[in-house]
Amino acid sequence: MKTVRLILGDQLNSQHSWFNKIDEDVTYVLMEIRQETDYVKHHIQKVVGFFLAMRAFKKTLEDAGHQVTYFYINDKDNSQKLTDNLDKVIKEKEAACFEYQLPDEYRLDAMLEKYCKQLSIDFQAYDTEHFYTERHAVANFYAGKKQIVMEYFYRDIRKKHGVLMEDGEPLGGKWNYDKSNQKKWNGKPKVPSQKTFTHDAKAILKEIKEAGIETFGQISDEQFTYPITREEALKQLHYFCERLLPHFGDYQDAMHTSYHALFHSMISFAMNIKLISPKEVIDKVSKHYQQNTSSIDISQVEGFVRQIIGWREFMRGIYWKEMPDYEQLNVLKNKHQLPDFYWTADTKMACLKDAIGNSLKHAYAHHIQRLMITGNFALLIQANPDEVDAWYLGVYIDALQWVQLPNTRGMSQWADGGIVATKPYISSGSYIQKMSNYCSSCAYDVKEKTGEKACPFNSLYWNFLAEKREHFEGNNRMAMMLSLLDKMDKTQLKELQKRAQHIIANPDDY
Ligand code: FAD
Ligand code: SF4
Repeated sequence: MKTVRLILGDQLNSQHSWFNKIDEDVTYVLMEIRQETDYVKHHIQKVVGFFLAMRAFKKTLEDAGHQVTYFYINDKDNSQKLTDNLDKVIKEKEAACFEYQLPDEYRLDAMLEKYCKQLSIDFQAYDTEHFYTERHAVANFYAGKKQIVMEYFYRDIRKKHGVLMEDGEPLGGKWNYDKSNQKKWNGKPKVPSQKTFTHDAKAILKEIKEAGIETFGQISDEQFTYPITREEALKQLHYFCERLLPHFGDYQDAMHTSYHALFHSMISFAMNIKLISPKEVIDKVSKHYQQNTSSIDISQVEGFVRQIIGWREFMRGIYWKEMPDYEQLNVLKNKHQLPDFYWTADTKMACLKDAIGNSLKHAYAHHIQRLMITGNFALLIQANPDEVDAWYLGVYIDALQWVQLPNTRGMSQWADGGIVATKPYISSGSYIQKMSNYCSSCAYDVKEKTGEKACPFNSLYWNFLAEKREHFEGNNRMAMMLSLLDKMDKTQLKELQKRAQHIIANPDDY
């Protein structure tokens, strides 16, 4: 039976059981389409990265003997729409069956379900065979429970899959080393350079320009440096284990102007387009730890495992539990525009300049820069979560809605009213000073609350608490902050709020 099988741009998993055997009746279809390049304005490296990796995957499949139909972005017969291109291939191949892997994005999932309903041929959807858990795992795990706390889901996966476990107990005796994972980096230990790759992007940049795709951000020397094949992804993982893992946990919350990624893995792009699976990453990291227990502390490894088995699987589960309503949530009714400097890094605030500058340069920022610098500021100025989502979905190389949305709208902007995070991730300048070297080179004084030189985060922080307090009354985790707010001198609070209002109205002046 002639079959057409769709492979989406983030389904480049050469280990999928589909590819176990060569079948000349099966045609695999990949397509570069405007539908996907234009649903949000993307960073140039993101478009380049997806196209390069898709083209490399086409070659991998063809070299293995599979048949592939590939739509290049400027092909004349490319309709630029997923379903129209599928119609064309199904007709040309006289296919009697259409098959696809379950998309991770709600939008595409709904589109393909609808498409299949009107097909006159057989169809079937397959699992992507990528994640540890299935789509509805979080919904099922927490069914009937009031509070959704990631920790229990994380522990359950570790137990079920025997990750860092010994005789039914967590290796090292503790589930959580968060407290020891919050060190500032002060110049030691030495930070190894990140593993990068050299992919000449000149030709593809020309094609993107010819197609008229609008993008933003930079690509240095027209070179793309993230992995685009499985072999490269495995090399990056190996490098991470050898060089970065020994200090990952300690400095995972640290920020520094000299090292945009410090000891982070930068593996998210490779994983999110499925060049490698989370299980492969975890197995490799666990094995490496077991072979090097004398030189690597369990806290470094647990910190990393938690991000993948914990947060990554959890966020996906939240997405499928809460969509489609989730992308509309705006519990705090925030409505301000994001400042222009989110697209230029042209600001006097050193922390934002660095985090946004790196995002524009590398299409990357690590978690704490996303959460406690750009996200924190957006929330404190009460930016509209739709705008915040669009920025995060566009700017990062790893941004796919299933993981971006719960992180941005939920964890970072608290627009979901606490589904993901029990309290909002906000801070004044003091947290940023504690975790980075930003404040030492800033035009503002982190210790000042009012006056022209005062750190903008300070007044914004107290203003946010004062304006949004109704949402946090009765929240135990916010009790201390609200009690400090209540004790504050009224004249001082008024002064702080006045400055905050000026920043909110004129963020690009700061
Ligand atoms: P490491 O720090 O080395 O961590 C290892 C891996 O853990 C990551 O590659 C990632 O797969 C996983 N991970 C870590 N934290 C999270 C998390 N909170 N949620 C899900 N997975 C996690 N991650 C994305 O993959 N895509 C996004 O679009 C995205 N948007 C984000 C938006 C905001 C506002 C915030 C606060 C976080 C976002 N994250 C997103 C999570 C996290 O910041 C990135 O996964 C991480 O920075 C990627 O860099 P890394 O590979 O060096 O990560
Ligand atoms: Fe950021 Fe304030 Fe520190 Fe400047 S002083 S770097 S604005 S936290």
